[in-house]
Amino acid sequence: MPKQHTEICNELIGRLSEKHFLSYDEYLFLIKNRELCRNYIYTKAESQRNEIYGNKVYIRGLIEFTNYCKNNCLYCGIRQGNSNASRYRLSKKEIIDCADYGYKLGFRTFVLQGGEDPFYTDEILCVIVSEIKRRHPDCAVTLSVGERSFESYKILKNAGADRYLLRHETANELHYKKIHPREMNFKNRLNCLEELKSLGYQVGAGFMVGSPYQTEDDLAYELIFLKNLNPHMVGIGPFIPHNDTPFADMPAGTAELTLFVLALIRLTLPNVLLPATTALGTIDPFGREKAVRAGANVVMPNLSPTSVRKKYMLYNNKICTGDEAAQCIECLKKRIESAGCEIVVSSGDYRK
Ligand code: SAH
Repeated sequence: MPKQHTEICNELIGRLSEKHFLSYDEYLFLIKNRELCRNYIYTKAESQRNEIYGNKVYIRGLIEFTNYCKNNCLYCGIRQGNSNASRYRLSKKEIIDCADYGYKLGFRTFVLQGGEDPFYTDEILCVIVSEIKRRHPDCAVTLSVGERSFESYKILKNAGADRYLLRHETANELHYKKIHPREMNFKNRLNCLEELKSLGYQVGAGFMVGSPYQTEDDLAYELIFLKNLNPHMVGIGPFIPHNDTPFADMPAGTAELTLFVLALIRLTLPNVLLPATTALGTIDPFGREKAVRAGANVVMPNLSPTSVRKKYMLYNNKICTGDEAAQCIECLKKRIESAGCEIVVSSGDYRK
């Protein structure tokens, strides 16, 4: 039987590589039988990435500018209810300094990420975004600050923001309810993604692999959902528990499943920008290299000041919280090269 199943898997991967689409049942079959076709799918995903982007890996400088958050996502270490978190906010000047420093290191994209912190009004964020764009017109600015109003997204776009990362977290509404507090709303999150798209942002969606209560069926459905949404970027990483959250005792997602899903995403959305995430590098010391070998083409090293790094603790044992950004870049260059790719100085836009 396994022999037969291997043949079916290979046939499905062949078809996915050509048509970039499978049915829900077919995705599920691959996920359930992934042990039989893991190497084959990685090879296919890697060559798909090479076809569109070559062996270039884009870097994004991540500036984690606030760990205050008004939300209480059950999985997240910076949730409001975590009274053990030591909170910080970066000033306008500190954020702009991070970008200036990053520019010198070769970054051409800055990702401003934070908890949902009402302190950063549209006005404040606009000043920061437009100042970064003024100083570095050849750079892209990405925002990742959660759910805001259409008006707010519009104002920020007009101030110069190019891209927006908003992981949908799960495509299954019932699952969404299990990992979020009652006041958070699945439909609102999806609506935000639609609004961002309509405003002309390059949009990034995504989810955690192995988040509590997620099933293989949910993962199969993620591929169908992503195919329909057709985002420019998809950020996925394993769920990793954080001690001071309600999910402290839940098992972490695995690197092997995350890598398999990464490859499925690359073959389903051949042009997508696909990061090898820090979470993957946290559960597996070679997770990011393996991700590059499974079709990833983006890495997001940390540009936040080292003094605050440890405070942006979304999950336990997050890596790279002690190193200077310059050290991170050197380390990553070697890692990416060992995976047959090279880091480039580029804003790394989505290729149509
Ligand atoms: N407030 C922003 C940024 C959230 S943090 C927003 O709402 O988009 C960025 C991502 O980290 C989240 O979207 C989530 O998918 C991921 N994350 C949070 N807690 C995590 C955990 N315990 N393990 C792995 N990833 C986690």
